[in-house]
Amino acid sequence: MLLRSTNKYDPAVSAPYLKTEPRPARKHKSKVTKYRAGKSKPWKAIKGPGRVTKFPGGFKHSWPVGLTNPNGAYCYRRALLQCLIHLPAVYNYLGSIPHQSDCERRISACVVCGLQTLVNKYWNEKGRISFPREAVAILDKAIRIRGHGSAMFPDAETNNQGDPHDLFMFLHDQLERNEFKWSTHLDRLFSVYRSYAWECEDCGGPNQGNDPVSVYIPIPLAGSQGSGHDLDDHIEKWFYGEENRTCNVPNCNGTTVGTPKEREIDYWITQSPEVLCINLQRQAYNHVTGVTSKIHDEVPYPEVLDLSEYTEDESELRYRLYGVVAHRGKGADEGHYIASVRKHKAGFATISDESLINYATTSRLLKPGHSKQNFDTALLFYLKI
Ligand SMILES: [Zn+2]
Ligand SMILES: [Zn+2]
Repeated sequence: MLLRSTNKYDPAVSAPYLKTEPRPARKHKSKVTKYRAGKSKPWKAIKGPGRVTKFPGGFKHSWPVGLTNPNGAYCYRRALLQCLIHLPAVYNYLGSIPHQSDCERRISACVVCGLQTLVNKYWNEKGRISFPREAVAILDKAIRIRGHGSAMFPDAETNNQGDPHDLFMFLHDQLERNEFKWSTHLDRLFSVYRSYAWECEDCGGPNQGNDPVSVYIPIPLAGSQGSGHDLDDHIEKWFYGEENRTCNVPNCNGTTVGTPKEREIDYWITQSPEVLCINLQRQAYNHVTGVTSKIHDEVPYPEVLDLSEYTEDESELRYRLYGVVAHRGKGADEGHYIASVRKHKAGFATISDESLINYATTSRLLKPGHSKQNFDTALLFYLKI
């Protein structure tokens, strides 16, 4: 029997991200960022608290535009940026965080300023007729400067094709560094909090606690190749795991202290993000040949992802698809990345660097094999309903 009902935070179990002391009052009020460079209109942020699932009205352009790729290798950056740009919650976040009026860096040396500028120009530029070439170049420059020596994103300084998920983690890190010590805005935007519980088969004792926070759900495809599993199946595996753990119950006879054993573990979401990033990990390393290859399995995904069964109290938790990054090629550092993004009104548009490839209805996008060009899904972005 597993411990669904007793899965509460136990202070005896250390959980580094749980802050047990009350947070001090914040010194700064959130304010709408003023765009300071260029001639763009001021940011149209959405006022008031609550969920942001729509862009504000009044954009001059409601269709996507391409983003220029100066060296042929930055398709992975453009595909990721298109997904982030098309998430209303991300737009609202970037428009509401206190940053640009306080930032002392040059715009081309600050990733947060660069992101704000690009997203603002993308939607609010008057008379926009072409892709925001200058804003995207400034962001690339800021990534190069701030990413100097970054272990998280080694391709920050290169002109090579990199991994869009590495870039996502790097951008998140840059945003996190910008936030005030006690701010929870970014945390609420991207963070998934998980608790775990399992029962020791030796002493019968409960083991429970909190896992480190994650800003995406990893879906490792190695080991399940050719299984035909869809996204729901893969996500289920993130909530029911078999892992080596040591029993924490004092005087447990069955466990030599420090020797982990395989346990059946249940997980729950204890805090859900507004934007859920799902990372399909397609790299498989062959220990015999020493060669890393890519897994091309199709993983069908739904437009509406229901995670209600994984919440602690089984409250409703549903997400709607907003963006897909897809990759064609043998390995992550070759081939080509594109993005499909939810349009303002209906359906999706697929964008390859500067070019709009096509407009797809939602049902067409979701159909496995919708693309005849052998693109594999790499990242999915869902927005909480
Ligand atoms: Zn800045
Ligand atoms: Zn035990």
